[in-house]
Formats: sequence, structure tokens, C-alpha cells
Amino acid sequence: MRDLDEIVEEAEKLFNAIENADELEQAKARYLGKSGELTELLKGLGKLPAEKRPEAGSRINQTKNRLEVLLKDRRSSLQEKKLGEKLKEESLDVTLPGRGYGKGGLHPVTQTLIRIEALFRSIGYEVASGPEIENDFFNFTALNIPENHPARAMHDTFYVENGDLLRTHTSPVQIHFMLENKPPFKLIAPGRVYRCDSDVTHTPMFHQVEGLWIDEQANFAALKGILANFMENFFEREDLQVRFRPSFFPFTEPSAEMDISCVKCNGKGCRICGHTGWLEVLGCGMVHPNVLKHVNIDSEHYTGFAFGLGVERLAMLRYGVGDLRLFFENDLRFLRQFN
Ligand SMILES: [Zn+2]
Repeated sequence: MRDLDEIVEEAEKLFNAIENADELEQAKARYLGKSGELTELLKGLGKLPAEKRPEAGSRINQTKNRLEVLLKDRRSSLQEKKLGEKLKEESLDVTLPGRGYGKGGLHPVTQTLIRIEALFRSIGYEVASGPEIENDFFNFTALNIPENHPARAMHDTFYVENGDLLRTHTSPVQIHFMLENKPPFKLIAPGRVYRCDSDVTHTPMFHQVEGLWIDEQANFAALKGILANFMENFFEREDLQVRFRPSFFPFTEPSAEMDISCVKCNGKGCRICGHTGWLEVLGCGMVHPNVLKHVNIDSEHYTGFAFGLGVERLAMLRYGVGDLRLFFENDLRFLRQFN
């Protein structure tokens, strides 16, 4: 019989040199498996004289127990080591700076709308809104554009079911408002409008702001003063020049188009203003008596003026944007400049 202590010493060395659990179980089999060294010794007990068997048996069993203890210790230290490595791998460095999310901002068209609304609210105008799907009466007939009127051809209209249409301007909001309210009133109606038109200077959807003042003393001088003042404030230019050119709209009479001195060259002439020194910014006029008739307002007693401006146009001029399409491409490099 080999010296049992020697076996224990050898096994301990072997176990401690092993770095993985599977190998440890294989090493265990070498001593305690079916044909392991200690198992073989137990089997060989029968060959010993009867009086020596109990002592030898008990010594072999003690050795077995010592090996079990060594194995158990090694197993748990291997497990601890594995856990430690895992924790180290998964550890978080809470002192690292975060990745951070970019701050969002309002779209330049939205910012422009907010600015226009604030300026008109400050002089007593209320903000009204109306549906984007309209019928023929609100979009055309009530605005003095009867069927077969040539002005209808200028509105490239998107028709939807049952003869309904996507509003081609914000003017129908005037009609809704005048049917539901008694004058006097001052309102603006900002919103989306749609025209079947798409090129460098036109998009199928764009934004307008409609303005309306119905009162006993609303007149063209007031219209001129309010709009000139609005443009000065909008562009933050006290020296801004304005001019009104006669024009035609079915729903106003007389009608005018308003120009401002070029905000880029101050009237000297540049590419933006086509070297005229002037920029066309809105259409306006005194509300046509036929429009008031459609909404049951007595045009002998009340007069009013209306105006309509393009929001993208004003945003382009204010921010110096050269291409209308930039507003609708959602390119973050463009939008971030307005944060
Ligand atoms: Zn210019």
C-alpha cells in the first residue's frame, strides 16, 4: 500500500494547480472514481489478513474524506474566482461622463408662427383656427369666388371625397368666425394650406396667416398702419420702408399688395430682391361687401380689412434662408441652427 499521506499531498498539489471545474472533476476520478487509486485500495482490502482489514479500511476512508474536503475547498475557490472575474467584466464606471442627448428645438416655421401670433396678440388680436378639409362654400363661394370664376383656376386645389377639398388658403377661417361671432372683432388665423403645386419656390403644403378686423371704423389707413408696424417689429427694423401697390383679390375691394424695403440690402438692390430694392410680403384689402353679405353682416354699418401672408416667406427673409425646400427636408444640420 502506498503511503496514504503521500497520496493526500500529491492530490492537494494537483487540485490547487487546476484552474477549471471540469478538469477538477476529472482529477477527482483519478482517486475516487470507479477505478480510482483509493477505490482500488478498498477493493484490495480482501487480500489482507482479517485482523488488519478494519484498521486499513478506516485509514483509507479517512483519506477519502480528506480528499473530499480538499476538493470542496478547491471547488468553492474556483467558483469565487469565476464570480470575481464576471463582476469585473460587468462593472460600471459611474464616473464616466454620460453620452448625453442633443437638445431639441422648435422648427423655424413654428418659431415664426409663434412670433407672428405674439405680435398680433399684443395689439389685441385673437387667434382663431378652422378645419383643413373644407367645402366649396367656405373656401370659394363665401369669399366671393363663385363657380367658373377665373380666380378658382389660380388655386390648384386638392379635392377629396364628396367635392370636399383641402383648403387652399386660411381665408375660410374668416367665414367660420364671422358666422359664429358678432362684430366688432380682430383676429388672425394661422395654419396649413394646400395647393397642388411643387417646384423650387412652391411646396404642396405651406403656412399662411390670415388677418381680419371688422369694425365700424376699420379703414385703409388703419390697415396700412397696423401692417407697417407689424413688419417693423417682425424684422426688428425701425427704418423699414413699406409701399402698397394696387392689386386684385375677389374677396377684397380695393385690394393691395404690400412690399417692404429689402431686409438684405436696405433698398439698394441685391439678388434677393431681384435688384428692385423691394420685397413682396403680403396681400390685403378692404373686405368685399359680398363676403359680408354671405355671413349676414350689414356692410352699410360695418367695414373691415383683411390680409394674408406666407409664413415660410417671412421665415426665409428673417433667417436668410435661400431655399424653401430646406424647411421640409428635416435635415438636422439645418434645423439645429435654430435651436
Ligand atoms: Zn435686396
